[in-house]
Amino acid sequence: MGIELRTADLIAVRDQLGRDPSTRFSVVCRCVPGHPLVIRNAPLDANGEPFPTTYWLTCPTAVKAVSRLESDGWIARLNERIHDDEAFDEAVEAAHRAYAEDRAAELPDARGWGGVGGTRTGVKCLHAHHAYHLAGGEDPVGAWVASQVEPLHSERLVGRVAAIDQGTNSIRLLVVAPGSGPHDVPAELA
Ligand SMILES: [Zn+2]
Repeated sequence: MGIELRTADLIAVRDQLGRDPSTRFSVVCRCVPGHPLVIRNAPLDANGEPFPTTYWLTCPTAVKAVSRLESDGWIARLNERIHDDEAFDEAVEAAHRAYAEDRAAELPDARGWGGVGGTRTGVKCLHAHHAYHLAGGEDPVGAWVASQVEPLHSERLVGRVAAIDQGTNSIRLLVVAPGSGPHDVPAELA
């Protein structure tokens, strides 16, 4: 797989991880402000050692939100559901198989390294599932995590915003600058 990397992304990811990334990667998904959210790592690191985590969550806000779910005990609860709910169990195992196949497409020897979070069954790491879901994987655990943590960043608008009201007899235009009036109220410009 060809990996194209912008210098700005390398710097952003180094900043997010607090160290140099140990493998080649590409950015597969971004947060609304534009910084990397999920990266796709090469299957071998710079020393040629296996790097089983293909999809990695890098946005610190996302990492923190998912860590909160883990510390609230959700890994154990999801594993209980896998134990009790056969359809859910099958869907999670299918996600693990697809994840392993996705990596094997790049490095056939990596087929045996396991699925999401380096396992073939159950849930080990919610960050890995969330990252896989965001990268487009069919992952019921990742989709559930996303439903719990989104939106990650407040969808506060910056710059000027205009609205047009087109009626039968009149057209009205409103231009505001969000947050620039007193008490965070948008200031009306026109
Ligand atoms: Zn983010």
